[in-house]
Amino acid sequence: MSFQNLIRPEIREMAAYQADVVPVKVKLDANENPYHFSDALLKELFAELAAVPLNRYPDSETVELRDIIARKLQLSRDQILLGNGSDEILQALMMTFWSEGAKMMMPVPTFSMYGILGKLVGYELLEVSLDDNFDLCTDEMISLARREAVQLIFLASPNNPTGNCFSEERIVELIEQTDAVVVVDEAYAAFSNQDFLPKLEKYDNLVVLRTLSKIGLAGLRVGMMFAGRDLVYEVNKARLPYNLNSLSQKGAAFILTHDEELLAQIEKIKVGREWLLKKMNGIKGLHVYPSEANIILFRVPCSGDKLFRQLIEDDVLIRNLSRPGRLYNCLRVCVGTDDENSFFIDALERRLNG
Ligand code: PMP
Repeated sequence: MSFQNLIRPEIREMAAYQADVVPVKVKLDANENPYHFSDALLKELFAELAAVPLNRYPDSETVELRDIIARKLQLSRDQILLGNGSDEILQALMMTFWSEGAKMMMPVPTFSMYGILGKLVGYELLEVSLDDNFDLCTDEMISLARREAVQLIFLASPNNPTGNCFSEERIVELIEQTDAVVVVDEAYAAFSNQDFLPKLEKYDNLVVLRTLSKIGLAGLRVGMMFAGRDLVYEVNKARLPYNLNSLSQKGAAFILTHDEELLAQIEKIKVGREWLLKKMNGIKGLHVYPSEANIILFRVPCSGDKLFRQLIEDDVLIRNLSRPGRLYNCLRVCVGTDDENSFFIDALERRLNG
């Protein structure tokens, strides 16, 4: 008998998550911070890392790092859970709230991992289209959540790939008018003005997620979950022991306590975003969506697939989201350094006008 028959049907039908590995000069596909830290800061960081005892397990409770984050955000340590990227936290959350027949809901288009992990964990997925402004259709979501007794609702705000924040009132409506746990994923919070952390005190069905990936530490894989103590206590049971390795804990702790460069980089990225938006809005035929993140979604007046490939020939990698429906001929670019942004704009103009 072949092992194939033993594989869960959901897994057999899935494709593995694939991050494009295309060697290009200008890589603007993965929503990363394009800047490096100064040599002086890196030297100090590596001196800290050199002292980490690699023969020992990491601190499974991540006490030092949670305390640093708690102080910065004026929360208490037991309101924080850390993961190997927020992807891992999403999975732990889903496992915590799963039971036979469990359902989760999300607007579409949104971050693909919600659906991938949801299926893996065994949820029935309920998807509700965003409105014309890529905002939430709350009436539809609320009635569906009630009718289907949805366990979890995932809202990325700012949303990936659309770049906009959902309106605060609509998110609050979902928190207040459903019995679901509402996960507000603020992966791109550093680039926006929205902040749901202050609302944790009021709502015990609210979870806020953040990550260090978009602000300069994608390689360390540090995701953060914030919620009421009781909810964190439960999700912590679904977290693997030692899930955050010692180097990531130490590195993140160091950078968060020496964050002047990081904060300056975030400001530069925001300036770069405005520059890109202005340039892109000046290109005839391009439909550019507003952004409060470090990513910009745009629709091209030609084949998105073809333009995506042409840009790779020009040494620029962005993200191709084109598929029939709302994202037809849509591409997503993330903000790079000034040079990378100019390189991208030049290539885009050449291809569109050429
Ligand atoms: N949430 C959203 C909305 C994202 O776009 C991403 C990364 N693309 C993540 C979570 C995952 O972040 P991490 O690197 O912390 O796993």
